[in-house]
Amino acid sequence: MKELGRKRILVTGGAGFLGSHLCERLVEAGHDVLCVDNFFTGTRENVAHLLGRSNFELMRHDVTFPLYVEVDEIYNLACPASPVHYQYDPVRTTKTSVHGAINMLGLAKRVRAKIFQASTSEVYGDARVHPQKEDYWGHVNPVGPRACYDEGKRCAETLFVDYRRQYGLEVRIARIFNTYGPCMHPADGRVVSNFMVQALTNEPLTVYGDGSQTRSLCYVDDMIDAFIRLMDAPEGTCDPVNLGNPHEVSMLELAEHVRRATRSDSEIVFRPLPIDDPWHRQPDISAARALLDWSPTTSLDAGLSATADHFRARLAGRERAACC
Ligand code: NAD
Ligand code: UDP
Ligand code: UDP
Repeated sequence: MKELGRKRILVTGGAGFLGSHLCERLVEAGHDVLCVDNFFTGTRENVAHLLGRSNFELMRHDVTFPLYVEVDEIYNLACPASPVHYQYDPVRTTKTSVHGAINMLGLAKRVRAKIFQASTSEVYGDARVHPQKEDYWGHVNPVGPRACYDEGKRCAETLFVDYRRQYGLEVRIARIFNTYGPCMHPADGRVVSNFMVQALTNEPLTVYGDGSQTRSLCYVDDMIDAFIRLMDAPEGTCDPVNLGNPHEVSMLELAEHVRRATRSDSEIVFRPLPIDDPWHRQPDISAARALLDWSPTTSLDAGLSATADHFRARLAGRERAACC
């Protein structure tokens, strides 16, 4: 018999960076969590500490194939998020976003589950409006090397709003801005993990371009709070919502913050800027503040310091459970 308030929750991409933190939070809250992952960028180790829990289950499955399970809520996070990984097999990336969304929406429709989509600030592309608000339609190159990710996520948003309009599904769409923290994979390829590993191994920090491009970085715990608040928001909260930390820094400034957090004196070296690298990015989170009563509370230095502790332990060969 199901306890009142206890839900059966599917997390796709649950063995990845954000997914594993989300699974942990939902398991701790007493829900029955089904984690589905094909282990492309995620690992079993990320959720190893949950495997002994009676309310946690791990299933190897690729969301581009249909999935028949019975659940109350779905968090659809499956998709590689680092440019290095999503550009490795771009056709598969688009399939994961688009076929994955269709399958998870079909599942949600059959069982009448509420469904959350991990969308991205990348739907704004190389934005011409700053900071970015949800009503900005974006500036995306549809044929560039980032298109498989950006356009796949844009199409997934279209599917989500159309399943809402056509079938009355209760959908949630989070436009997630750059998020970092413990349990990012050391070989993830994104800027925080690259800088952390480089700083802690006394290698030069690789700043792409001249480092004046900006990002606004959110600590993972703040982001997971926002996910759960958005999922639990009142019925009809179906428009996309920006989630992120509005504190904007250049990549050169970030390199300095990481050097401080790790007490490293690694030098900084400059490498070519990747094609179509967005120039600047900062969320306008007034919708999240109003709808979810949420804003991030972790400062960049506090978040980087916690992340540095994790990477130090990980590089020393200790397990996730011991350091996260
Ligand atoms: P991640 O790469 O660590 O996690 C993605 C997970 O999805 C991995 O465990 C991977 O193995 C799994 N996966 C990939 N393709 C799959 C498939 N076809 N079937 C099943 N599983 C599959 O990335 P993350 O940072 O945890 O991102 C999670 C989600 O959040 C992604 O959808 C990403 O686009 C979105 N997002 C993340 C950020 C961020 O800064 N972390 C920003 C914007 C959006
Ligand atoms: N689907 C799934 N699990 C379910 C129900 C559907 O994976 O429990 C998939 C199925 O592969 C289908 C897709 O979701 O192709 C879309 O389902 P929908 O009912 O919207 O469309 P249709 O079945 O008509 O294609
Ligand atoms: N970047 C960098 N050095 C690195 C990795 C990334 O300077 O080792 C830059 C990258 O060019 C971009 C920013 O950091 O301007 C964020 O890159 P990331 O891959 O983390 O995410 P994006 O926001 O580009 O998807």
